[in-house]
Amino acid sequence: MNPTASDTNEHHTSPGWDYSPAPERTPVELDESYGLFIDGAFRAPKSRKRFDSINPATEQTLASVAEGGAKDVDDAVQAAKAAQGPWARLKPSERAKYLYRIARRIQERARELAVLESMDGGKPIKESRDVDLPLAAQHFFYHAGWADKLAYAFPGRTPRPLGVCGQIIPWNFPLLMAAWKLAPALACGNTCVLKPAETTSLTALKLAEILREIDLPPGVVNIVTGAGETGAALAGHPDVKKIAFTGSTEVGKVLARSAAGTGKRLTLELGGKSPNIIFADAAIDQAVEGIVSSIWFNQGHVCCAGSRLFVEESIVDEVVDKLRHRMQSLRVGDPLDKNTDVGAINSAEQLRTIERYVDAGEHEGAIMHEVSADPLPTKGFWHRPCFFTGVQPSHLIAREEIFGPVLSVMTFRTPEEALTRANNTPYGLAAGIWTNTGAKIFEIARKLDAGVVWCNTYNKFDAASPFGGFKESGFGREGGRHGLKSYVKF
Ligand code: ADP
Repeated sequence: MNPTASDTNEHHTSPGWDYSPAPERTPVELDESYGLFIDGAFRAPKSRKRFDSINPATEQTLASVAEGGAKDVDDAVQAAKAAQGPWARLKPSERAKYLYRIARRIQERARELAVLESMDGGKPIKESRDVDLPLAAQHFFYHAGWADKLAYAFPGRTPRPLGVCGQIIPWNFPLLMAAWKLAPALACGNTCVLKPAETTSLTALKLAEILREIDLPPGVVNIVTGAGETGAALAGHPDVKKIAFTGSTEVGKVLARSAAGTGKRLTLELGGKSPNIIFADAAIDQAVEGIVSSIWFNQGHVCCAGSRLFVEESIVDEVVDKLRHRMQSLRVGDPLDKNTDVGAINSAEQLRTIERYVDAGEHEGAIMHEVSADPLPTKGFWHRPCFFTGVQPSHLIAREEIFGPVLSVMTFRTPEEALTRANNTPYGLAAGIWTNTGAKIFEIARKLDAGVVWCNTYNKFDAASPFGGFKESGFGREGGRHGLKSYVKF
């Protein structure tokens, strides 16, 4: 399939000049329709239901995907259950070899997978190529290293696998989230049933191809595509011993209720409304670039996006001017163009959600800033990067997760005020601090209710570093030794 989407992407200009188009042309072979990956093979869904996965930049159908029903989920769980004993009994160094092979194969097919990720999800190729794919491979490499060293991860204790893990993932980092879930589970001797998000199933299905190529024993990983009902059937299955979920706080709460009293282990990585705090002594250009990447790149489709910006009052005019200036040079358009900064919104539904919040922001009296030089593509789902000033903490746009390229700018006068305002949210996923004073970093970082605090940078990830939230952003960690702990019992 030719990945270019140029007919719909006569996009944007920077003031006075423009880049030439730089389309990524690596071809992706896609089948017209995909089955469910159960017990090492693709099979037609017993539900007989299917849905289309579309390219949000063109609205073209990419492939027809199976919608797993309760019987399909049961088949997948039974396959995982049957495979779990032999997988756990494998010599750990042999388990590690499979994980290394998955990692290497992801690297070998990285460009093709990156292109598909951008086609199916709408994110710029720059992002899928330079962030999603390297991190997905890194996650398998990292956990391959742990597979035969688990005794060292938990000194003095004997870690044992939990059994079948049901893993439900969202659409913002489809392959990376699959890697985050699968790699630690497999390293610890568990087997998995993974349910990708309904709008972004295709890279998970390509991953299934990779699992076959590297001869992973059948049943160790099963991939059941579908929407919320499929996820609910998986989470509610009595033979699933652990549920790992990344997604909305709303669904996380449903899962927490349904898991209560069942003895199932549960980890939740949910929403966020993360603060970025800029002090007057910060390197302002660097901070502005960090803010831009934390909320506008990848369309704000990041659960830890720095969607609330707190600026020390004395520098707010300068920061707002620089943000406006930088916003003008952001390139919105074809996700497969290597110069694109902001791609397509993942779905029509998500676009409506973002538009609702922007309307609410204006309605409540905040001032919207947006650059609208060029028309957006006529097909597909698009939203320009924008920011609001004059935002009150009570405004909807300052309180609720938008999951779009929409930033709320607010001010503070003292570090104490910054801290109080930053923590004034039901969420606690991530935060950013920008200052040249080391002592201020340590003081504030310690007091921020956030699972991750970045200082003078943002959105830096590493497989060795645990990620996860506090409060309504969930519980449990992914990555590092902390993440392994969620996949073992003692
Ligand atoms: P988002 O708002 O980011 O789309 P969701 O929480 O709706 O987040 O979706 C995240 C994942 O959870 C998706 O794979 C989705 O299909 C799945 N899901 C949605 N509803 C349910 C549910 N009731 N039970 C289990 N999984 C669900």
